[in-house]
Amino acid sequence: MKGFEYLQSELDEMKKQGTFRTLIPLESDQGAKVIINGKEVIQLSSNNYLGLTSHPRLRKAALEAVENFGAGTGSVRTIAGTFTMHKELEEKLAEFKHTEAALVFQSGFTTNQGVLSSILTKEDVVISDALNHASIIDGIRLTKAARKVYNHVDMADLERALQESKDFRVRIIVTDGVFSMDGNIAPLPEIVDLAEKYDALVMVDDAHASGVLGENGRGTVNHFGLDGRVHIQVGTLSKAIGVLGGYVASSRTLIDYLIHRGRPFLFSTSHPPAVTAACSEAIRVLLEEPHLIERLWENTTFFKDGLNHLGFNIGKSNTPITPVILGDEALSHQFSDKLLEYGVFAQGIAFPTVAKGLARVRTIVTAEHTEDQLQEALDIFEKAGRELQII
Ligand SMILES: *Cc1c(COP(=O)(O)O)cnc(C)c1O
Repeated sequence: MKGFEYLQSELDEMKKQGTFRTLIPLESDQGAKVIINGKEVIQLSSNNYLGLTSHPRLRKAALEAVENFGAGTGSVRTIAGTFTMHKELEEKLAEFKHTEAALVFQSGFTTNQGVLSSILTKEDVVISDALNHASIIDGIRLTKAARKVYNHVDMADLERALQESKDFRVRIIVTDGVFSMDGNIAPLPEIVDLAEKYDALVMVDDAHASGVLGENGRGTVNHFGLDGRVHIQVGTLSKAIGVLGGYVASSRTLIDYLIHRGRPFLFSTSHPPAVTAACSEAIRVLLEEPHLIERLWENTTFFKDGLNHLGFNIGKSNTPITPVILGDEALSHQFSDKLLEYGVFAQGIAFPTVAKGLARVRTIVTAEHTEDQLQEALDIFEKAGRELQII
């Protein structure tokens, strides 16, 4: 069809530079090993930290919900699409996060968009870490609030931004709890101290911290002992929780406001029963099976030590997200392709997901991996790394 030549030329340029990608479909369920192109490979690319995507208890909860409540909900939450199970999940999440209330959105992405776009006006200012997730950036774009971006985890620069923001009605600092591409944890205690000094609100996006850090995976706020001092906690139900969705845990006032003004909440249909029931079951699993998080951290230490020992540049991560930083975009994709050929699925990640010159292969181990599987993966990293003269 004619009309898209202007897009095709950009795609052709990507092909020339070796950065054009095709989607890689899985032919099995998500797990420590997956089937790709008919071959079993070790999965190191998913966000399935605790193996909950295919946990027997979640499968069962989803199946029972379909049997009893059907496949869909037929409405947005505010009209006819709130079932008792939606309320139950939100009560569970609020209790889990030690907050007054919680509200579920369709995804983590729409949660950030919905929260930021609805609670700020042109009288306010949002102060954002330079490496925050795209959904935070897009949420900020949708507000009329003033914007300030501080250098990544640079507390002096954050303080400068706060000093420049004294005349606004509301100052809100927004940060990822764990940065998704580098795996480092935000310096939340310092951020909260500065917020209190300058009378600012704090919003933390714990997409990669929920189910990973804090007591039973409550996230970075709990990990740092800051319960009650962070105003807005965003989480996703799509990563460690293993299903789909996002939520905000906060005060009753904020949640009531979002029920009336949060646009994705108001204008997009609620989660189907299977999704909602499986998410609730996942929270129960977090509370009842803490050994999953212990295994996750044992595997993290084992795999990071192994990569380090082989001489890869693994950045400054202190979570299960471990980047292998190569810099060159084409090389990252080449390395990823070679790893897949030898039996490891670890995706290359390049611009616009990370800055130009910082392309990488990103890995995430899960609680499900065995030490043998991780050793096999390290051997494959070594072989592919030597062939491409990375190490
Ligand atoms: C993945 C991610 C999201 C989006 O969550 P989804 O539920 O996948 O939409 C939001 N914020 C951060 C920091 C993320 O890593």
